[in-house]
Amino acid sequence: MDQTPQKPEETYAGQLLGFTIPSRNVRGRMVRLDSTLDEILSAHAYPAPITHLLAEALVLASLMGGLLKDDGSQVTMQAQTEAGAVKLLVCDFKGGELRGYVDFDEAKLAELGANPSLFALFGKGYLAITFDMAGGKGRYQGIVPLEGDSLAQACENYFFQSEQVPTLIRCAVRSDGDTCVAAGLLVQHLPDGEEGRERLHARLDHPEWEHIAVLAGSIRHDELLDPELSLDALVWRLFHEEEEVRIQRGETIARGCRCSIEHYEQVLARFPSEDRREMRNDEGIILVDCAFCSKQFAIAD
Ligand SMILES: [Zn+2]
Repeated sequence: MDQTPQKPEETYAGQLLGFTIPSRNVRGRMVRLDSTLDEILSAHAYPAPITHLLAEALVLASLMGGLLKDDGSQVTMQAQTEAGAVKLLVCDFKGGELRGYVDFDEAKLAELGANPSLFALFGKGYLAITFDMAGGKGRYQGIVPLEGDSLAQACENYFFQSEQVPTLIRCAVRSDGDTCVAAGLLVQHLPDGEEGRERLHARLDHPEWEHIAVLAGSIRHDELLDPELSLDALVWRLFHEEEEVRIQRGETIARGCRCSIEHYEQVLARFPSEDRREMRNDEGIILVDCAFCSKQFAIAD
């Protein structure tokens, strides 16, 4: 009998997984966030619907961040409304570092009940997605109305409308008490190759894409969230009849923020001294909040 202890199976928890299906011109990303998500959420004491919303947004930011090729590139997701219960949601991803927060109206949220729809949360809102490419490769921003049932659907609209790339996104979130698990799948059709942003003939009814979208769309929430099920096994489960599926290990995801005393000192140094004087409190200190971390920094000016 073999006494060698079994190596625990790689599940890709907290890590991006990339894959391509060359014969169908398809690329995909998958991610399952557990402890990193708890860490980000623990900076805030959000009510359940906001936790759920932010968890979904963090998965989406990770999936889109997984599409970035160069170190130092960043993707930022911002959902905004004027009159909704949620005023602002911001998430960003840079080199595997993930952060996010939500600004909301507690009284308005309380009126919405346990499972508010996206429209109930935001009213007439907008989603802005910005890709800041490292190495002077530019900045691309697209803004789409926050329509559909979920943030994931709004992101699909962004890719189709702003980038002309047919995209399917599925997200699943489960939170019970103190722990939250969230996971997602993103699949895209790139018949014209990865390069070039002029895809004027993007179609949702391309036979290659219709085929893959049916397979990818069959993924279930419980599969995405199952901690025992590794992400590569899940890709295999969905696409095992395809000629070839290539898997690539992506970045490890960690909670990250750029806030520090030094960072804010540098930012404040760019303000004229007159402005800084106005920012000081009675003790001569400038207080700066980091909304991502729910932390306040006292800067002696
Ligand atoms: Zn921070």
